[in-house]
Amino acid sequence: MPSVTPGIIQGGLEIVTIPCLSDNYAYLVKGPDGVCLIDAPEAGPIIDALEARGWTLGTILITHHHHDHVGGVEELRGRYGCEVMGPEAERDKLPPIDMGLSDGDTGGEGPARTVAIAVPGHTLGHLAYHFPEAGAVFTADSLMALGCGRVFEGTPPMMWESLSKLAALPPETLVCSGHEYTQSNARFALTIEPDNAALVARATEVDAARAAGRPTVPSTLAEELATNPFLRAGLPEMKATLDMQSAADADVFAEIRRRKDNF
Ligand code: ZN
Ligand code: FE
Repeated sequence: MPSVTPGIIQGGLEIVTIPCLSDNYAYLVKGPDGVCLIDAPEAGPIIDALEARGWTLGTILITHHHHDHVGGVEELRGRYGCEVMGPEAERDKLPPIDMGLSDGDTGGEGPARTVAIAVPGHTLGHLAYHFPEAGAVFTADSLMALGCGRVFEGTPPMMWESLSKLAALPPETLVCSGHEYTQSNARFALTIEPDNAALVARATEVDAARAAGRPTVPSTLAEELATNPFLRAGLPEMKATLDMQSAADADVFAEIRRRKDNF
């Protein structure tokens, strides 16, 4: 039996981070009633992680329709007979789902209670999954560690509103995002706020984690609020740094996103 890295214990859940494809993350969440999976970039590493623990899969929660988040769904459903849920608004673009979810839909009990939060921008139907009792949120390509997803289908104001909803969750919330982009996100963030001491310190930690082959996720919302330029677009100090003192928050966000797209 290969040794198994224990997951993070968070508020009555065990959360296992699974690297998939070249830079994606899937997450297994084990609660009192079973195991659910957030996103299925590919089946192989997820099956390995389940078997190594002797777990079976009850539910898959899909965040959005991009292939690097759903590529393993059919194989996992075939193997485990699990229930597949995802954004109703993207049903036509997803592998077959058993239940379509929309903003505010909830399921599960106790630490496993899950609330879907609509976070459009990257795609129009993108959902985040919040476990309020446990204190964790699965954000995929909306809020990311030191970054946010590209605004492909929505508009910058829409993405700003989505990020603002996530920013309002309790600061101790664990943020489980969908990609290992943190090192390049840090390099970009330092071009925006070179004098942000918390950011400078985090960039050093991120480099050390990557050098050791460790994921840089999950983070906490408090860390993101202190260091993620996209969450900081509404702050007076950010506006001053960008010489946009009188600009609306969403316009500052759009400017930071524009710079990142050209970085
Ligand atoms: Zn995506
Ligand atoms: Fe993605």
